[in-house]
Amino acid sequence: MADRDRKTKFVFVTGGVVSSLGKGIAASSIGLLLKSRGLSVRLMKCDPYINVDPGTMNPFQHGEVFVLDDGSETDLDLGHYERFLGQSFTKLSNITSGQIYDAVIQRERQGGYLGATVQVIPHITNEIKSRIRLLAENPEPADVVIVEIGGTVGDIESLPFLEAIRQMALEESDENTLFIHLTLVPYIEGSGELKTKPTQHSVKALREIGIDADILICRSPRPLTREVKKKIGLFCNVPPEAVIQDIDMDSIYELPVQFHFELLDNLMVHYLKLLCKDLDLSKWNSMIHRLKNPEHKVRIGICGKYIDLRDAYKSIAESFVHAGVANNAGVMLEWISSEEISRDGPEMHLSGIDGLLVPGGFGDRGIEGKIDAVKYVRENKIPFLGICLGLQCAVIELARNEAGLNGANSSEFNGKTAYPVIDLMDEQRNITDKGGTMRLGSYPCKISSGSLAHRLYNSLNINERHRHRYEVNPEYKNKLEECGMKFSGLSPDGKLVEMIELSSHPYFIASQFHPELKSHPMNPHPLFVGLVKAAMDFKSGRGVEVTDIQHSSK
Ligand code: GLN
Repeated sequence: MADRDRKTKFVFVTGGVVSSLGKGIAASSIGLLLKSRGLSVRLMKCDPYINVDPGTMNPFQHGEVFVLDDGSETDLDLGHYERFLGQSFTKLSNITSGQIYDAVIQRERQGGYLGATVQVIPHITNEIKSRIRLLAENPEPADVVIVEIGGTVGDIESLPFLEAIRQMALEESDENTLFIHLTLVPYIEGSGELKTKPTQHSVKALREIGIDADILICRSPRPLTREVKKKIGLFCNVPPEAVIQDIDMDSIYELPVQFHFELLDNLMVHYLKLLCKDLDLSKWNSMIHRLKNPEHKVRIGICGKYIDLRDAYKSIAESFVHAGVANNAGVMLEWISSEEISRDGPEMHLSGIDGLLVPGGFGDRGIEGKIDAVKYVRENKIPFLGICLGLQCAVIELARNEAGLNGANSSEFNGKTAYPVIDLMDEQRNITDKGGTMRLGSYPCKISSGSLAHRLYNSLNINERHRHRYEVNPEYKNKLEECGMKFSGLSPDGKLVEMIELSSHPYFIASQFHPELKSHPMNPHPLFVGLVKAAMDFKSGRGVEVTDIQHSSK
């Protein structure tokens, strides 16, 4: 759409006052608006922590690790970027202080800076700027790159990133950069007022490090009146039109629409002098309409060990929103602790659900509860989708309870089991480094003709994203097949099991890969769509009414 002789424009998104205001969703919404105006858009997240990537962090600390096609383990905001824009990003879209320092230190050791004292300014900031420009140019020049800076203004660790983007604004011409600052405008019940002071302070803190915000996005529990916008504008040095409200919505997918009502896309187009078409959000709007007006309701159980922190299963929760839209159903998610299932037995926690998902995970805590849950849904013909560890639990369960392999286990949980039905791949045996060493990223999978997987994907060749070390042990495949397990998806060389299913069950399917990483609101994933559909059928057979519906929110 845009004329390619022009340079890439940069939109920098910073945050102030408090964290968790939904900066990633705001950046994604901005991206969708610009993309829907016909521009090529790329997003980038700068994470100020020292880890090279989030792959080694506990999900309780950092939420889910979002794996890209190229195998990079990235921040969960990349999941929002991909879902809102409906496109795949690469490792160039997520940088951390760890990666930046690592590159600079390695270059120093190789003599790349001979004679110089290596410093935060200019060496670290130059590395950050070169990464941002690398993304702008690859694989081909983008019209707009949106750079989200993690953390909040005032954090010590994000300073080099803020300094780097300040320098970029100096190096680029005025109409090539735009600073958007996301802040909080709280409502004080006692006085019945929206308070602008935290925003004023945050913008002041940004100005002290040399950045003038062009647009303020104000997260607030209530609409901003014209008066409040004028006041914020006056104190923060922006016109009132550049004060954009971001009030809580039922669904995160409504935010781009709210921003459009606030004329944010027009403002960006005006500031950046972008040549582009008018906005067309009609398909997005009809998706939201379906999302908000479901005709059916189903209850899906998610049995995992990180259930107290929903961010640990962010993409799964979103995949159910997408699959609900596809089925005209509101999906109510029931988060079930696998440890509680071990303690109380499955009946107490699973008797009311219409479908079960057992997600991925690491380590043996809660594993027996998951295996019991799989047995319960297999025997009661409740629709089931297993993901990664969920597939491994389904294999262990069938081995123990149908194939007579007592004590069968994964060697991850019991190195001494007599029946290691899930075992380490040879390539993984001698690996000791922890970061980036699993089977990661997109791999092809061949599906058997006539299988449930075939019907769902309507294809015999698929590509899906992985993040695991252990595999179904081929020595036990025959035994499991005798008990009715079909290995309906295999790696192209036939060696690795990618999907399993049970033909004696209406919907019992599991994948070694992570389908949730590729589900988008405009392109829901077939395994989730199938589970919700099967859950609706199961529920109608049972005649149970489900009352309330849960949609994801920020
Ligand atoms: N812990 C298992 C493995 O490494 C499963 C991983 C996962 O569920 N992502 O193979």
